[in-house]
Amino acid sequence: MNPANLRIGIGHDTHRLKTGGPLRLGGIDIPFDKSLDGHSDADVLLHAVTDAVLGAAALGDIGELFPNTSAENKNRCSIEMLQIAMGHVREKGYKLLNVDCIVFAQKPKLSDHKQQLAKSVAHALDIESRLVGIKAKTGEGIGDVGQENCMMAQCIALMYLEESDD
Ligand code: MG
Repeated sequence: MNPANLRIGIGHDTHRLKTGGPLRLGGIDIPFDKSLDGHSDADVLLHAVTDAVLGAAALGDIGELFPNTSAENKNRCSIEMLQIAMGHVREKGYKLLNVDCIVFAQKPKLSDHKQQLAKSVAHALDIESRLVGIKAKTGEGIGDVGQENCMMAQCIALMYLEESDD
């Protein structure tokens, strides 16, 4: 493996919380009395993952690929968006090595769901679950996360360019 062919990407996303569950996160439905608001299904974790993989391949961002002004993207499933993004990434010759994610949520407690989240994200990315890190942080009761106004997510993705583009 030539280290010069390694690529790293970062993704971040925020969505407001609204009354009424379940919470769609990482491609699964988690029992909760609130859900995320947005043009698509507002899956904040998958949106951060999508931006990280697009970023590693320098292929723009989720907003360019799936504009929130497009009717086609209304309530759109984020698993599908991530799979389309990964298709572009693979087409350019990139192999995804691993992702590491942080979800920022005051509630619900995500520790019981981390394994299922990793499995779901891994499935969407078509990689093994052991290659997906999922961490959860609260907002310590302060700020927009802590006050349960929103949830945020971050993701970092490492890729290998199998065919050099030079
Ligand atoms: Mg988003």
